[in-house]
Amino acid sequence: MQDFNPYDMAVQQFELAADKLELSEDMREILRKPKRELIVNFPVRLDNGRIKTMTGYRVQHNVNRGPAKGGIRYSPDVTLDEVKALAMWMTWKCAVVGIPYGGAKGGVICDPKNMTASELERLTRRFTTEISIIIGPHSDIPAPDVNTNSQVMAWMMDTYSMHSGFSVPAVVTGKPLSIGGSEGRNEATATGVLFTTRRAAQRLGMSLKGARVSIQGFGNAGSIAARLFHVEGCKIVAVSDTSGGLYNEEGLDPGAVQRHKLAYGTVATYPDGQSISIADVLTVPCDILIPAATEGVITEHNADTIQARIIAEAANGPTTPEADVILFEKGRLVIPDILANAGGVTVSYFEWVQDLQSIFWGNEEIIARLEVIMNKAFDAVADQADLYHCDMRLGANMLAISRVSEATQVRGIYP
Ligand code: GLU
Repeated sequence: MQDFNPYDMAVQQFELAADKLELSEDMREILRKPKRELIVNFPVRLDNGRIKTMTGYRVQHNVNRGPAKGGIRYSPDVTLDEVKALAMWMTWKCAVVGIPYGGAKGGVICDPKNMTASELERLTRRFTTEISIIIGPHSDIPAPDVNTNSQVMAWMMDTYSMHSGFSVPAVVTGKPLSIGGSEGRNEATATGVLFTTRRAAQRLGMSLKGARVSIQGFGNAGSIAARLFHVEGCKIVAVSDTSGGLYNEEGLDPGAVQRHKLAYGTVATYPDGQSISIADVLTVPCDILIPAATEGVITEHNADTIQARIIAEAANGPTTPEADVILFEKGRLVIPDILANAGGVTVSYFEWVQDLQSIFWGNEEIIARLEVIMNKAFDAVADQADLYHCDMRLGANMLAISRVSEATQVRGIYP
């Protein structure tokens, strides 16, 4: 893990698709680098009266297909290269599902688990102010990501609105319903993972009823995926969070595990299961593996031992290019991150459209529209992969990169 650099990995994936598309070197140079990289250092008053200077980033990778879009993460591990990679993946993600956005990402180096709510609020308000020179409802629209949630989005929306003198709900997505959030947004990432997994299972002639599912990560994507896949009839055999993993071949009750996490802070100590390591969650006997934590966890060192038939990437960047080669050779079907987890940004797009029009849709309409978009994108990617005899990641990247390069080409180079 020490040498792992997410941006190098994102560029490596990009070059593979660019080679296959025979993209010109001029176009590669445009698409390889982010358009803007903003680094902010800013003071935050802690509850004990001390002041801590924090570092944060907002990177806009590409805006040729529309305003920049992407989440904000809070973590001690945030780096500029990580944010650059995540911004690039957002560009391809929006293109692959055909929503009119470019890609962005932001992050603050901090340890949210050891901060109070009022410290997090002050951090969020000051960070929003610092990046307000590049965000806006028509330029760059943040959303939740690792360790951020609808409350953080509410503080961001309020801060931006205070500076504007009026409410600007469309400046962020993933807000609470009471201030212009959308039905279905909280469950959107996991719902998209379910829709694409259903489609993949259909292609393989595999039933989801009774299928064994292992999930790494129990945040917004992982915990809700556990619930939705359980309702679908799957058996959730393993879960994990940052404290450890849990395995039960008979299947876990996701609701009970969730309640345990709320009460004790982790899933790892849940009594009705066997304690395993976070890494072991990837390699336990299962039919569907859902990495829903962080980047670079499936590598050439463990790809060979993964037993799942389908790997649905709820996390961004969980699989390295070296691991992709091994998984493809072994006949594993990887639904790549930019497709599998695109339900989140797709419902973010619905939220933004609703905010701009001040007309709100019901949950049924959201889910129906999401399913149409996810299925269409899945089929396009699967067909592309079949046509080029490649894995779905390469297929998805080829589709996405060709769409972004076409938009760049047709807009022309200014001046
Ligand atoms: N953070 C999510 C992602 O990685 C959602 C981004 C958004 O809704 O803008 O796709």
